[in-house]
Amino acid sequence: MGGDGDPVGSRMTEPGGIRTSPTAPTHGASAWLVHRAELTPDRVALVEGDASVTYAKLVERSLRAATLLGGLGIGRHDRVATLMSNSIEFMELFYATAEIGAILVPLNWRLAAPELDYQIRDAGAQVLFVGPEHGALAAQLAADLPIRERVAIEREYAERRDASPALADASARARFADPHLILYTAGTTGHPKGAVLTHANVYWNVPNMAIPVGLTDRDTTVTLLPMFHSGGIGLYTVPSLVVGGRVVIVRKFERDALLALLVRERAALCFGVPAIWLEMLKTPDFTQAKVPDLRYVVSGGAPCPTSVMEELDRRGFVYLQGYGLTETAPGGTLMPVEAWKRKFGSVGKSAPFVDLRVVRDGGEACRAREIGEVQFRGPNVFAGYWNLPQATADAFTADGWFRSGDLGFLDEDGFLTLVDRKKDMVITGGENVYSAEVEDALFAHPAVAEAAIIGVPDERWGEAVCAIVALRPNASASGDELIAHCRSRLAKYKTPKYVVFVDALPRNAAGKVLKRQLREEVRIREQAKA
Ligand code: AMP
Repeated sequence: MGGDGDPVGSRMTEPGGIRTSPTAPTHGASAWLVHRAELTPDRVALVEGDASVTYAKLVERSLRAATLLGGLGIGRHDRVATLMSNSIEFMELFYATAEIGAILVPLNWRLAAPELDYQIRDAGAQVLFVGPEHGALAAQLAADLPIRERVAIEREYAERRDASPALADASARARFADPHLILYTAGTTGHPKGAVLTHANVYWNVPNMAIPVGLTDRDTTVTLLPMFHSGGIGLYTVPSLVVGGRVVIVRKFERDALLALLVRERAALCFGVPAIWLEMLKTPDFTQAKVPDLRYVVSGGAPCPTSVMEELDRRGFVYLQGYGLTETAPGGTLMPVEAWKRKFGSVGKSAPFVDLRVVRDGGEACRAREIGEVQFRGPNVFAGYWNLPQATADAFTADGWFRSGDLGFLDEDGFLTLVDRKKDMVITGGENVYSAEVEDALFAHPAVAEAAIIGVPDERWGEAVCAIVALRPNASASGDELIAHCRSRLAKYKTPKYVVFVDALPRNAAGKVLKRQLREEVRIREQAKA
């Protein structure tokens, strides 16, 4: 290159001498917060019950927390785990880890202790912050974890944070491409995988989810989803904090309390999984007229029954459905406001900075309305699974698209409708349960010869976990016994709610369990009972 007398060298890659490589912002999440606090130091950033913090205060506390972490020996790329409910303190640690380039591992407190042990070991977390509600669970964790120090939020944290000087040196700050979060997602192979989100991934979710709803610094959003999910962080906590809005944090969902909160805080946006909106609709007071500031009810994470959408419509709400995965940080699509009635049932269009395609098994693009796998590409797509290069490679196509494992179709206007899942997964109350994990737990029972998991319709949670079990000859076990056995190893939401006994599982010629057939058989049995 440059041999033809090109004075600046490679004309091919640098037209006109201008560098075309992406000039990515250099800093991660803590820099966004610091910047915002310079614009509006005294505006309220976070509200939780009677407590609130301004942007300036949140920066100060986060910098103190960063010093605290440094004092614990935590540095760049070290892992910091939390077993914490949604709280101001959690968000401080979110920014504190960013400030020193460390990686936050927010653990799901719905899991059983052995599941948490696995994740803490897998992530190699050195410090664990334990919220007041989760002391008993933390006490059940294995004694030989790599954790060097546990910090109890209600006793030591605030004291130690406040005694630490605010970190003055920003040179250790995470860069845009650094990993910031490891979020465990249920795995197809039994163990969950740690999806690594970089600061850039988290950042790109901001315009992706904020632009379609016109989020501004005048808006209050309510965060209901647990912050150990990408939805709790990205819908809409971090987007709101980037634009300078106000975020009301909810620790535990309760219908009447949420209704009162939406009214009192004059919330403009609230994101919830469909089970939340189903529950809210049980009170006749949840109407647009009584919550006049709520511009949009936003939903995603699980299929939403049409009846819920219709009822929200009847009550005057604008209901926007979105779709995404932990691996897409999480927003992949969102319904444009003007189209929601016209495109009832669709999960909307790809977000502004997301490429989306629907492909056949062979990889060719589907025609309009032809069902195929939904795939994503874009700066929001995760960096890979923690220490799992093969699983990471398998998650992408040869040409770099992330395979969602969801089946759907695009209509003529580019609106996506989901129809099924390719992956063997049940979604109960917005939580994913991969069959393999529950099946492994069942197989560990000595009486079980064969076991399979399916999702059965559940009025409250969308789907419930149902186990189909064939016992070994001459062995015996009751359904209750198998349920108790699973509960000792698995989170409650993953534990089968029902156990159906069969002589043998239906299998295809290759020996694969025919889950569709099982679903159908269980449906027929239930109908016969009714
Ligand atoms: P997670 O990684 O926990 O966010 O779960 C992602 C999965 O949830 C997706 O792969 C879908 O199967 C499912 N999902 C997310 N949003 C929707 C939606 N709006 N409708 C149906 N399923 C959804």
